[in-house]
Amino acid sequence: MAHPTPKLNLEERINQLYPIIDTFKETHEVRIMVYNLSAYDGLYCATCSPRKTPGDCGPTCPLLRPEPEPYHSNHRHGDWQGDMVSDYQLYRQIVADMAAHAAGASENRVIGW
Ligand SMILES: [Zn+2]
Repeated sequence: MAHPTPKLNLEERINQLYPIIDTFKETHEVRIMVYNLSAYDGLYCATCSPRKTPGDCGPTCPLLRPEPEPYHSNHRHGDWQGDMVSDYQLYRQIVADMAAHAAGASENRVIGW
């Protein structure tokens, strides 16, 4: 006879969601990097581009390359970009909902997350 799986209470279930949500954030950051590399023909640096300080990250900064090489990518088009945007909107919605309602959340709300 199989042993029944112990039921987690809602607080434990919510606490298990946080590391999963964090992996979505990492995935989004990678997507943004790929998107920016594509948008700027490879001349994008995650450190220096947002601050407009080429070379600040060190001598291997891609912004210091003398001539850009064509960067072939289709990551700015179609479904890929649409998925990136909609996934990030969903991520933000869940994070905001968890921040607002994690304390005292109903089981149905937690199932939705
Ligand atoms: Zn840099």
